[in-house]
Amino acid sequence: MDSVTVRVPAKVNLQLAVGPLRDDGYHDLVNVFHAVSIHDHVTAVAADSFSVRVVGEEADQVPDGPDNLAIRAARALAARADRPVAARLTIRKSIPVAGGMAGGSADAAGALVACNDLWKLGLPREDLLDIAADIGSDVPFALFGGTAVGTGRGELLTAVPTGGRFHWVFALAEGGLSTPAVYARCDRLREARGERPAPPQESKALMAALRDGDADALGAELVNDLQEAAVALRPSLAATLDAGRERGALGAIVSGSGPSCAFLVAGESKADDLARALTGSAVCRAAVTAYGPVQGALAGSGGHPVGIT
Ligand code: ATP
Repeated sequence: MDSVTVRVPAKVNLQLAVGPLRDDGYHDLVNVFHAVSIHDHVTAVAADSFSVRVVGEEADQVPDGPDNLAIRAARALAARADRPVAARLTIRKSIPVAGGMAGGSADAAGALVACNDLWKLGLPREDLLDIAADIGSDVPFALFGGTAVGTGRGELLTAVPTGGRFHWVFALAEGGLSTPAVYARCDRLREARGERPAPPQESKALMAALRDGDADALGAELVNDLQEAAVALRPSLAATLDAGRERGALGAIVSGSGPSCAFLVAGESKADDLARALTGSAVCRAAVTAYGPVQGALAGSGGHPVGIT
């Protein structure tokens, strides 16, 4: 085996409840992650040293040196090996960069699974999840996939049962938003109002809608505490969200820290219609359809990654 390719999904947050700022600089979160069918592909090839090449959409906006999250993950995994190992990584990007859809985290998860197989380390999923959490709060979910509630910084995951497939349209924006900048604006907006956020709580109504596969109910329960801050930093997102609502979306939300916007719709043909309408409007750079939940990077592991040559 000299090459392993792993497919990794983007995520949208169905509930992102942000608690008060903690002393360690993080926020306590209740974060309902949902993996959707927009995928990056990470290929690992055995090599004498670490390198990464990024191809595909917006590849020029992704670091191709030691800051790349996939390389950081591969190096962290190599530190657990009982012999010197390295890899040449190729990332084929489709997940929007700095789009609030955790593309960098997905690539890190893909690198962990691909290198674990390539180097025949046989590390169990618990160990990969531990390394993932050290790389970033969203990395464990990219391994996990499906729909899951994350607590703590978002990295302690519990699977959420879902009663069906949900259809989405994502309106992609020109240029990204910095996640730390969005959190900082959220804190400032709260401070200016003298608001003391309560500890975040899981939405029972959202869980019931997911369990029942009820897209109408789910659309009404989508909530993102970062949305106000993302819109404050990128005011044009208000018009993007309105455009989806006016065209019949069951729910409209900024994805994570933005600026991608997610629209829940009633089915595949409605998704095609909305994507076409948004693409032809001035409110986004592009619009793509997707469905969820889909499997995470780990689904291909255990000796059966997506592509072995
Ligand atoms: P999140 O939703 O987790 O906050 P995001 O989707 O908004 O993240 P990413 O696409 O993960 O954002 O990228 C955030 C930044 O991380 C980028 O601006 C880029 O500089 C850096 N980065 C490092 N490695 C990668 C990678 N493999 N793919 C994309 N971005 C990466």
